[in-house]
Amino acid sequence: MKIKRMPYLFVILSICVMSIGGRAFPQNTTPDKYAPVKVTDGIYRIRNFGCNIAVMIGDDGVLIIDTGDQAAALKTDSVIKTISNMPVRYVMNTHYHYDHVGGNKKLSDNGAVIVAQENTRQRMLKEWNVPSVAGVKNPVIPPYSEDYLPKICFRDSITIYLNKDTIQGIHFLNCHSDSDVIYFFRKANVIHTGDLFLSNGFPIIDIYNGGSIDGYIRAVDNIISLCDERTIIIPGHGAVSDRQGLVDYRNMLSTARTNIEKLIKEGKTLDQVTASDPTKDLFKGGKSWLPAPMFIDVVYKELSKK
Ligand SMILES: [Zn+2]
Repeated sequence: MKIKRMPYLFVILSICVMSIGGRAFPQNTTPDKYAPVKVTDGIYRIRNFGCNIAVMIGDDGVLIIDTGDQAAALKTDSVIKTISNMPVRYVMNTHYHYDHVGGNKKLSDNGAVIVAQENTRQRMLKEWNVPSVAGVKNPVIPPYSEDYLPKICFRDSITIYLNKDTIQGIHFLNCHSDSDVIYFFRKANVIHTGDLFLSNGFPIIDIYNGGSIDGYIRAVDNIISLCDERTIIIPGHGAVSDRQGLVDYRNMLSTARTNIEKLIKEGKTLDQVTASDPTKDLFKGGKSWLPAPMFIDVVYKELSKK
């Protein structure tokens, strides 16, 4: 996959900017690549839309978690229609990043109510100007228009009763950003973690918008405590996982944090820390989608302020 060879944030941001420019969905795609994959009865995962979209179907209607990037908006409806003719009633956003809210407008235009933590709405109202990370320059994301914004917002938690299940949204403060929510389908025993777990590599810690490595590790600990051995975990990006996958991820982050902090205490500069490769071999799931220097950069910046 292209993103494995290029700076991820740059690639994603570039895709976003292309989408804002109104480009059509890539021509070399095939419907199969976007076909919903059943996770358990009544819950599906849609891939390749910029993030993992969870789709809950049932007699009451459709609820989805996140809407992918703006390019995805052109296909989301038709893909969902392959599994349900019912309307999408609710869209739950996990956080404000463009690869999770880009399809909001299309779904909202078709009648869905957008729901998110209140910081998601506040962040979407502002320009997102991400500083360069590990030497990679990022374009500016302009504020979103009203038709993209969540219309129902909550602070700490929300509960939706739909399709004979109970869906709990739980906000975690200062972790991936300051707007992160996980959604827990209690009866189905499925959790969509948003970007509080990426099974395909190191996480982005958005320290410029309330993110924190310590908060991130705490949040993953909390999610683990909600799981049992049968809980199905849909990460923000990457393959579907389980409680053990979360435990392994937490341990990786904790070890990386310890390694980087030790080098900071030895007085090493960011360049020296990056050169000593403190995350070497820590991620076991193949090559991380996010190049390690981009992860080390933000963790170093946060920990060196302590
Ligand atoms: Zn994100």
